[in-house]
Amino acid sequence: MTHAQRPRVVVVGAGWAGLGATYHLARQGYDVTLLEAGPYPGGLVAGWKTTGGRSVEAGIHGFWYPYRNIFALMDELGLQPFTPWTRSSQYSPAGLEVESPIFQDQPRLPTPLGTFLYPNFRRLPLIDRLSALPLLYAVVDFDNSDEAWRRYDSVTARELFKQFGVSARLYRESFEPMLLVGLFAPGEQCSAAAALGMLYYFILAHQPNFDVVWCRGTVGERIFRPWLEQIEQAGGKVFTQRRMTDVQVDESGTATAVLCGEEAFAADAVILAVGVTGMQKIVSSSPELHRRPEFCNLMNLGAVDVVATRLWFDRKVSVPLPSNACFGFDATTGWTFFDLNALHDEYRDEPGTVIEADFYHANQLLPMEDEQIIAKVQRDLAVCVPEFAHAQVIDSSVIRLPRAVTHFAPGSYRSMLPVHTSIPNVFMSGDWIISRHGSWSQEKAYVTGLEAANQVIRRFGMGQPATILPVDADEPHIQVARILNHNLRQFIQSRLPDFWLP
Ligand SMILES: Cc1cc2nc3c(=O)[nH]c(=O)nc-3n(C[C@H](O)[C@H](O)[C@H](O)COP(=O)(O)OP(=O)(O)OC[C@H]3O[C@@H](n4cnc5c(N)ncnc54)[C@H](O)[C@@H]3O)c2cc1C
Repeated sequence: MTHAQRPRVVVVGAGWAGLGATYHLARQGYDVTLLEAGPYPGGLVAGWKTTGGRSVEAGIHGFWYPYRNIFALMDELGLQPFTPWTRSSQYSPAGLEVESPIFQDQPRLPTPLGTFLYPNFRRLPLIDRLSALPLLYAVVDFDNSDEAWRRYDSVTARELFKQFGVSARLYRESFEPMLLVGLFAPGEQCSAAAALGMLYYFILAHQPNFDVVWCRGTVGERIFRPWLEQIEQAGGKVFTQRRMTDVQVDESGTATAVLCGEEAFAADAVILAVGVTGMQKIVSSSPELHRRPEFCNLMNLGAVDVVATRLWFDRKVSVPLPSNACFGFDATTGWTFFDLNALHDEYRDEPGTVIEADFYHANQLLPMEDEQIIAKVQRDLAVCVPEFAHAQVIDSSVIRLPRAVTHFAPGSYRSMLPVHTSIPNVFMSGDWIISRHGSWSQEKAYVTGLEAANQVIRRFGMGQPATILPVDADEPHIQVARILNHNLRQFIQSRLPDFWLP
C-alpha cells in the first residue's frame, strides 16, 4: 500500500482512550488524525501550569495493581513515571478510621479474606465487617456478562447492600465512601451492577488489587507529553482546539469525514473517544446522529461534577500517609487528599506543604467562590490532621469540572454503547463504553481505545491488532462458585417461566 492509500482514521478526543487508539494505529501504518476540543491533550487527566508557574491538574489519578495494560504501555514507552506502592488511610469527622497496608506484602489469602482482615480498622467493629459476607453471593452472581448487567443495573447499590443484610455502619463507613470515590456518586444514585463491577475490580478479585501507585508529577507531564512525542514520531497528527460537531455519512451509510464546524477531516474510519457530556454535545449538534436512536439515547445518560483543589501551605505539616479518602463530611460528597511533597518530585524539597484535595459529586461546591472552597478544604483537612488549622494557605488553585465523569446511574446500562455503532466504520471507546474486559477508569479507557483500534484493523486487514492483557482470572474458589451458580440459574430458568423481574 502506498503512503497515499493508507486508510485514514480520525480519532476524536485525546484522553486515555483516544491516545491509546491513535498510538497503536499510527504504529501500524494508518494515517491517523487525533482531534481534541480542549487546548491540551489528556482529557480528564490533563495537567497544566498556572500563570504563576505552578503545576496543576484535573484531579490526582491513582494507578491500581490490576492496571496491567497501562503498566505494559509504560514499559513499552520506556517511562518510569510512578511512585512505589503507597499505603492509604481513611478519615471521617471522628478522625482516622482505617489504615491500609500494602496488600501484596501480606501473606496471600483467598479473596476476600485479606481485604477484610489486613486493614487496620480503628473503629469499625468486626460484627459490622462480617455483615458483608452474604453479599459475596452477589459478587459471584455478577460476572460482568450482559445478563448480569441487566439483572443488577436497575437496582441501586444502596438497595443491593440493604437486601444482602450489610450493616448500616459498614455501608456508611466503608461501602458508600468507596462508591463516592470509585463511581463518584452516593449509593442511592449508583447502579448495583456498576458497584459490583467496580468493587470486584479494585478490591475483591485479588488481595493485591487495592495497591496503588501515583505519578511522580502530573500525568500530563510525566506520561502524556512523552507519549505524544512518540505518537507524532509514528506519524500521528494531533490537533487541539478542534471540536467535532458532526460526522459526514455517504449514501451507503459509511462515514466519510468528521466535521469540526466548517472544517472537514476526511476519514475511512472514525473512533469516538469522548466522554458522556462531550458525546451529548456532539449528538445535539449533529443532524446525522439525530437520525440514529442509539445516539439519541445517549441523552439519557448523566455525568457527575468534580472539583479539584491544590493548596500550598506556608509550613511543613506532617501527613501520616500520602493518600487519603474521607467520608461523612458532606452527605453526598466524597473527597480525597494527597500529600504532594511525598508523591511529586517537584515538591519533595518545598519548604511548605502542598496538598491536592479532590471532591467527587461536588455539585454544591460548584457555585461557591474559590475562597469559600479553599476555606472549607482547610477546615476539613484540619479535622483529619489538626496541624492544618495553624498553617497559612499561601497559594491555591480550584478547578471546577462540571459534568465531567460518567454517572453509572441505575438503569443507565441500556443507554450505553458498545464499540460498534450503526455506522459500520464508526467505533466507540472510553471509560463508559460497554466492554467485557472487566477493567475500570483509566485502564478501561485505555483498553477500550485499543479495542476500537482493533476493530479498525479488522476492517482494513492492515497491521497487527493490539495485545490487550486480560484481567487476572478469578481465583479458583470464585470460579467454582460461579460455575455452580451459573448451572443452578440455568436449571431454574429451564423449569420456571420468565415471569418475575430480573
Ligand atoms: C478528579 C478525578 C479523579 C479521578 N481519579 C481517578 C483515579 O484515581 N484513577 C483512575 O483510574 N481514574 C480516575 N479518574 C477517572 C479517569 O480520569 C477517567 O476514567 C479517564 O480519564 C477517562 O478517559 P477517556 O479517554 O475515556 O475520556 P476523557 O479523559 O474524558 O477524554 C475525552 C476527551 O474528549 C475531548 N472531547 C470532548 N468532546 C469533544 C469534541 N466534540 N471534539 C473533540 N474532542 C472532544 C475532551 O476534551 C477530552 O479531552 C478520575 C477522574 C477525575 C475527574
